[in-house]
Amino acid sequence: MAYRNFTLSRDEDGIAVVTWDMSDRSMNVFTEEVLREIDAFVDELTADEAVKGVVITSGKKGSFTGGADLKMLRGMFDAYEAKLAENREAAVAELFERCGEMGRIWRKLETSGKPYVAAINGTCMGGGFELALACHGRVAAKDAKMGLPEVKVGIFPGAGGTQRVPRMADTQSALQMLLQGQTLTADKAKRMKLIDEVVAGEDELVAKAREMLKAGLKPVKPWDEKGFKLPSGPVYSAAGAQVWPAVASLYRKETYDNYPGARAIVKCVYEGLLVPMDTALKIEQRYFAHVLQTTEAAMMIRSLFVSMQELNKGARRPAGVPAARLGKVAVIGAGFMGAGIAYVSARAGLDVVLIDRDQEAADKGRAHSRTLMEGLVKKGRATKEDAEALLAKITATPDYSALSDVDLVVEAVFEDRKVKADVIARAAAAMKEGAIFASNTSTIPITSLAGSFPDTKRFIGIHFFSPVDRMMLTEVILGEETGDEALATALDFVRAIRKTPIVVNDTRGFFANRCVLRYISEAYDMLVEGVPAPMIENAARAAGMPVGPLALNDEVAIDLSQKIMKATIADEGEAAVNPQHFQLVNRLVEEGRIGRKGGKGFYDYPEKPARKHLWSGLKALFPQKKAEEVDYAELQQRFLVTMALEAARTMEEGVVVDPREADVGSILGFGYAPYTGGTISYIDGMGAKAFVAMCEALEARYGERFAPTPLLREMAASGDSFYKRFAPKTAQAA
Ligand code: NAD
Repeated sequence: MAYRNFTLSRDEDGIAVVTWDMSDRSMNVFTEEVLREIDAFVDELTADEAVKGVVITSGKKGSFTGGADLKMLRGMFDAYEAKLAENREAAVAELFERCGEMGRIWRKLETSGKPYVAAINGTCMGGGFELALACHGRVAAKDAKMGLPEVKVGIFPGAGGTQRVPRMADTQSALQMLLQGQTLTADKAKRMKLIDEVVAGEDELVAKAREMLKAGLKPVKPWDEKGFKLPSGPVYSAAGAQVWPAVASLYRKETYDNYPGARAIVKCVYEGLLVPMDTALKIEQRYFAHVLQTTEAAMMIRSLFVSMQELNKGARRPAGVPAARLGKVAVIGAGFMGAGIAYVSARAGLDVVLIDRDQEAADKGRAHSRTLMEGLVKKGRATKEDAEALLAKITATPDYSALSDVDLVVEAVFEDRKVKADVIARAAAAMKEGAIFASNTSTIPITSLAGSFPDTKRFIGIHFFSPVDRMMLTEVILGEETGDEALATALDFVRAIRKTPIVVNDTRGFFANRCVLRYISEAYDMLVEGVPAPMIENAARAAGMPVGPLALNDEVAIDLSQKIMKATIADEGEAAVNPQHFQLVNRLVEEGRIGRKGGKGFYDYPEKPARKHLWSGLKALFPQKKAEEVDYAELQQRFLVTMALEAARTMEEGVVVDPREADVGSILGFGYAPYTGGTISYIDGMGAKAFVAMCEALEARYGERFAPTPLLREMAASGDSFYKRFAPKTAQAA
């Protein structure tokens, strides 16, 4: 039979080599057609008596497969939803069957009687790695990466991954890998016994695979033979009794039981290891069909997979503007942020001019890249030569004439309107015609700064988050007169440095900081009410936030909070800031408790290895409630609702115009409980009606700040959702 995505060749030893190479894609992914073809070639090779063994490999250099096309999964789920109203039983039965399709083919391959070897030449994720695990042998190139990352988008490996991994690796490592969605190097995978052989380069792979087959690789898996022993022993055994109780608490600690996908992994492994493989695969399939129907999976797949890819590919990029030629960029201000921006730019292969007031300050900013690269070299993730090559890309200087040939300037000098205005004017005088100017300001309106630049169309905001090398989000801020070319250049730059952009209109705090301020402010309210600080921090984490609000406030600095409050009072009057919050912050700053950078804040930071702990003096600031007087679940709700409500306001005001951006921005920018799919999906996921009811209940107890907005009320009445109302525009650019 002819295949569109695979080529089959056979040699005189009876070894068939199947090469996966999709002509219309840069990476191999699983589509319905691919699955049909694998199903067919397994049948063909099984029936062919001349075939003694099979090698499966990829024709794409450096990559085997990126895994399942999650859009296919979404399509499957949409079909299920459409059918649900008509005939529930048939819809569920069909979903169950379709969920099992991949697993069924892998199992057929595993039990076909012919030995298969997966020759993993590069990235091999998700369903592809599950296919490799179903093969009878696995050989990987040294720099290949592999893993089962499904849990990160709300689901889990449902084509045998939860069964084969813990039958090959010890239970603890298997669970850790599955629950964290770890990406493994070839060597690590070999240590875990998930890979049999590692070879130096791609070209040796197939030869090695043939060798394994010729050496008589058994076409039967250990677990299909009598007397098979699990690597960590049976679940019900002395060894099992050591492992499993700890699993339950580790799982809770890591997930707070918020992720149905993670919960299902633990259940699949536990229940699956008690029974033979075929029954175990049925158990996995059942949980998979269940998890796919959860709100969490639907929201996470949409935001963390589909939307994120669309934004990364330039969903908001104006069509028709040719791709920017970004060869050389400049960063002015080599401080905390500027040094980080220079580093990520150089990492992306761009030449960077890094300017500060004098040579010493500019050099100091460049030295930050040296420190970061030395860290990577120590961890074996970069070579000394990489470090030198990166530093060679950064020219540190106080001389503005170095701006004459750059395509984009990013300004990160002091947050001072006058200093910025001077820098903008000086830079403009030195820049070439047509270059774009971007400011990294956090608080000053872009439109007002653009006034210092001769061509306001070419002025834009690119707002980074700290630490720049680790935070994946950037907010691209449109001033009133920002033109399409500036927007396109900014998005091309963000894409080049491999960050995810959201495009935001110009207002105080833009998007992310507005929401984060609500988070911290709600914690202040709780403190004022007398809620014990540990309950505040724990409730936030139990709600799914990665860092408690008080710990976060320490990281961003409490004197900065004070500064922001003072600026708000200056601009909008006393009533714009809650006086109790202002007092609290003033008190901390007066006592020198300015946050982590000062060694104390809401937390104390003793010398390592001691760990930070909440400042005991917090208890004395407000009369304390007893734990039983506090509604813990409501604390969690308050955090999620207050941020979601702020996000809803930004959409209603037109600051954010696309719900995908609010969702992705909230997860990447401030870690908004990922299982919700982001601030807007949190609302859409439960429906505007339920959300408004929740807001009203909180408003009655805690005041106006929880009042639902007019748009929310209207949507609650009409049954509308943000995703329908603000239907995202389809991706415009490649
Ligand atoms: P910083 O004080 O660490 O760095 C500012 C740098 O600008 C210093 O190195 C200073 O010498 C230099 N500088 C000042 N005047 C200059 C001039 N005339 N010419 C050249 N260089 C000059 O500050 P930062 O935290 O890096 O913040 C920089 C900008 O980034 C601010 O606008 C801030 O609002 C914004 N920002 C900060 C954060 C954050 O978390 N710190 C996050 C997002 C945005």
